Amino acid sequence: MPTNASAQPQLLSRLNERSVMRVLQAHGPCSRADVSRRMNTSAPTVSKAVASLLRAGLLEEFDVKENGRGRPAKQLRLANETAQVLGLVIDASECRLVKAGIDGVLRQDGEVAFETPKTYERFLRETVHHARALLNPNTVTTLGLGISIPGLIDYRREQGLLSPNVPMTNGRSPSRDLSEQLGVNCVVLQETHALCLAERRYGAAQELDDFGMLDISTGLGLGIVSGGRLLTGHSGLAGEIGHIPIDVNGRLCGCGARGCLETVASDSALAWLVSERVGRRMEIGEILNAVARGELSVEDELELVCKQLSFVLSTVINLFNPASLFIYGRLFELEENLFTRVCDEARRRSLGPSFADCKLVRARGSKRQGAVAGIIEYLTDSLVPDFPIAAAGLFQDNGSLRENAIARR
Ligand SMILES: [Zn+2]
Repeated sequence: MPTNASAQPQLLSRLNERSVMRVLQAHGPCSRADVSRRMNTSAPTVSKAVASLLRAGLLEEFDVKENGRGRPAKQLRLANETAQVLGLVIDASECRLVKAGIDGVLRQDGEVAFETPKTYERFLRETVHHARALLNPNTVTTLGLGISIPGLIDYRREQGLLSPNVPMTNGRSPSRDLSEQLGVNCVVLQETHALCLAERRYGAAQELDDFGMLDISTGLGLGIVSGGRLLTGHSGLAGEIGHIPIDVNGRLCGCGARGCLETVASDSALAWLVSERVGRRMEIGEILNAVARGELSVEDELELVCKQLSFVLSTVINLFNPASLFIYGRLFELEENLFTRVCDEARRRSLGPSFADCKLVRARGSKRQGAVAGIIEYLTDSLVPDFPIAAAGLFQDNGSLRENAIARR
């Protein structure tokens, strides 16, 4: 009978590589000896894993002199001078490209925003144009690009299934097409999953195995991490709370149905109500600016949307019993105590014990951070049943470092 015994050493080295990455992510720069101590693993094993990670460009070495004197000691860190990754956030009105080191820290320089093109062909052209300007082949290796999309994704085919707010991505594969044109690894993530990942890796959910992420920014999305795993459903489409039908005679939703929850309880719902009243299309950013300047008042619309939003919060809390529920959206910027008011209303509507057990928090992560976290996770992905993408089997290929696939530029 065939056995998979020969696969075991490879699995072990992947586990070790992943552990080295985790140590450096958690503790910052360390010597090989520090890594070996923290992993409780022998020095030769750590050296082998480190060598593989250095070859893949995920780590870099630098010299540190003890007290500024003596023979310099070698330290290891996640690559941030020799390598970078890019993140692309596709949103209803704007696309944004950013770059970051393998440590996930976003770089201030080089962030580009452009209006979301109406056609997919134009989107590809413009993205390639802007992304090429961020590739710096002489000094920095670009290891990949993470893409966040507000819509349903078929992760196996790397294909957009349905995005009510950015329909040009429907049936398309930005990760495959951009990978081909830019010559770097690209990976696509549903926006809510990207936000979960950002919060889990770099935000306030680092220690949490049970949390929810409610994204009210572009439509209404929900990511649930339960027992450390992203709840995906049968084919990765779970969490589409935004399309729960709530008013049969309501407004037409981008999904084709009427009166979906996202048409009444989101940043875009507020923008729509305000646009109706003022008689022209206004996006949430423009509304925030106009209100801040005292040129516009949106109290009535805000009241309506927040009432529905508290209903959404209590529904999520009652259904999933999360330890924390993060909420990502901009409308809370409109009034100082608005977030607290919405939470109070949600408390009145929730089951007492479930609400008492749940912390409501404004999300600290961003979609940009999420797109970057997505590609870093992809590059360092291994067979370790960790969080959430590898665990959920969302990526087509569960290989580890994809050393040979990483294009050197
Ligand atoms: Zn809908």
